[in-house]
Amino acid sequence: MSILVVGSVALDTVETPFGKADDALGGSAIYFSAAASYFAPIRVVGVVGEDFPEERLEFLSKRNVDLTGLESKPGKTFRWGGRYGFDLNSRETLFTHLNVFEDFAPVIPDKYRDSQMVFLANIAPELQLDVLQQIKSPRLVALDTMNFWIEGSLTALKETLMHIHVLIINDSEVRQLAKEPNLVKAVRAIREMGPKVLIVKKGEHGALMFIEDSYFWAPAYPLEFIYDPTGAGDTFAGGFMGYLAKTGELSKENYRRALIFGSTMASFCVEKFSLEKLVDLKDEEIRERFTDFWHMTHFDHENSGF
Ligand code: AMP
Repeated sequence: MSILVVGSVALDTVETPFGKADDALGGSAIYFSAAASYFAPIRVVGVVGEDFPEERLEFLSKRNVDLTGLESKPGKTFRWGGRYGFDLNSRETLFTHLNVFEDFAPVIPDKYRDSQMVFLANIAPELQLDVLQQIKSPRLVALDTMNFWIEGSLTALKETLMHIHVLIINDSEVRQLAKEPNLVKAVRAIREMGPKVLIVKKGEHGALMFIEDSYFWAPAYPLEFIYDPTGAGDTFAGGFMGYLAKTGELSKENYRRALIFGSTMASFCVEKFSLEKLVDLKDEEIRERFTDFWHMTHFDHENSGF
């Protein structure tokens, strides 16, 4: 099953304590596609400017990512700059130059309108809803958003949430959206707004998934070298949805496996700058790390002797 992703395509300038990259390939749609394409065919809708070096996306075309929905417009490509603090947890946005992204009005090509799975990356909620209205009958829609939209476009965001299945956001955004400091209560309030599954990203502390009447925790992989956390959230979403699309099974157990594949892909993303590590992973590497997660989270509760 293929996945439609709508989001940003960017040239990022990123500073971390380990170095700096100028005009590195980035954007939510690109991180998502790079990760998800290890599992399923991907269809991308986005916009770039005339200055965009299209050859940098060749690795995606080779991996079954359909880029015909990527429009090239007169003007410059969206650029974002960020600087990370010493522990890589805090990030300061240095600049956001929307450029051609400012007037982004996604038009879904006819051949994508039958998409069964849709990832609405972090763009204006009005646009996210507009995209959904162009899709015939999606089986699974996941959405990412951020504080900017919660503050500035709450009504549109709430309207959009009524039409999606999975919401993937940070823990601070969960509290902000629900106006509730307690995470569990905040999650309940948001699930009543529409999404049946809520995934709370907690950075280096992993991700928590609320599904049906249970919750499940995926740790973050303990890495000795983390170079650049940019795009980890979108990469996580790519691994998560990619696995669901590959298997086509939407059971609770499969969602749990998908969450671990999300964490697995995010752990690769942060090991190098930009998308460097996501360019040519081997299936075997993904499988091995996925298995490591099983070792990290499994324990024998039957023989506790208690
Ligand atoms: P993340 O680290 O998950 O927040 O994703 C970082 C990616 O999001 C970078 O590659 C940026 O180019 C992109 N990005 C940053 N700000 C925005 C924005 N306002 N809208 C869309 N994409 C953005």
